[in-house]
Amino acid sequence: MTINIGIVGIGKIARDQHIPVLAANPAFAVVGVASRSGQGIDGVPTFPDLDALVAGVPDIEAVTICSPPQDRHVTVRAALGHGLHVMLEKPPGASLSEIVDLPGLAAAKGVALFATYHSREAPAVAPAKAWLADRRITSVRVRWKENVRQWHPGQSWIWEPGGLGVFDPGINALSALTAMLPTAPFIVDAELSFPANRATPIAARLTLTDVAGMPIRVELDWRQVGDQLWEIAVDTDAGRLLLSGGGTALDIAGATTDLHDPHAEYAGLYRRFADLVATRAVDFDIAPIKLIADAFMLGRRIEVEAFEE
Ligand code: NAP
Repeated sequence: MTINIGIVGIGKIARDQHIPVLAANPAFAVVGVASRSGQGIDGVPTFPDLDALVAGVPDIEAVTICSPPQDRHVTVRAALGHGLHVMLEKPPGASLSEIVDLPGLAAAKGVALFATYHSREAPAVAPAKAWLADRRITSVRVRWKENVRQWHPGQSWIWEPGGLGVFDPGINALSALTAMLPTAPFIVDAELSFPANRATPIAARLTLTDVAGMPIRVELDWRQVGDQLWEIAVDTDAGRLLLSGGGTALDIAGATTDLHDPHAEYAGLYRRFADLVATRAVDFDIAPIKLIADAFMLGRRIEVEAFEE
């Protein structure tokens, strides 16, 4: 059975991933788009907002929300209110308190709700998790360093409150990390670097641990030029595991596997969403966004050079 789905917000991630991956998945038919700027897809009607989309396409059953996080709660509530199954981009919201009601609302409506973390679907994450399950982990070092000018040109919302700054990609690292580790990490110290002219951090250094006292260091930086670095190194009693390329390569004790597939993450997300729709289930993990909220609560704030595009 095909799920009639609409897309809310046509920006970089909708074009790079959602649109091509939905087109390749016969479980879904894209039946409309809600775009405040009138963006469209060939052969699919465009509406200015979600309410107009639902009114214009009465047989719509689901939406995937690809707009920035600041108005996500309002959009998700509205979609659930229309009785739609909802899949949302990371982060699940702009604050913790605003999102706690969403799983209950979806359950009360009898629809599926899926808070996605695409990096958890990176090909290296599942094998890394399986290998780590039987190991004694001695330390973890995460380095997620990219050039904001290259990856987020013109995205003014990431510098506004709720846009998360460097935690916008940082949540990818934290979502993969929390999926891979056998125990739940928590933050004990954080240092957040805010450009003098911006409301969100351009870099962050986090110290985490777990109940056994395992040391975990996380370095996030948006000022990386040259080689871009998205890696998680885990030292264990059986050698080092290195997830690199954001989860497209895995090295275990010196043996490397290249798992690169540009659409693997979103293909996995939509397979999962189809399953959730079939069972009207909720998948709404908030572990990654909780760590970010704690980093803002515990973090020492330092001011760094102003950032200009
Ligand atoms: P983007 O390129 O800025 O696109 C966001 C789109 O949302 C806009 O083009 C606009 O589309 C719509 N929108 C609605 N309200 C808006 C507002 N107040 N300000 C700006 N745009 C608004 O952002 P993106 O990179 O696609 O990211 C969107 C979400 O996906 C974010 O939560 C981000 O963390 C997540 N994400 C991004 C990437 C990536 O590689 N870029 C990867 C994974 C996840 P319309 O004009 O059509 O309404």
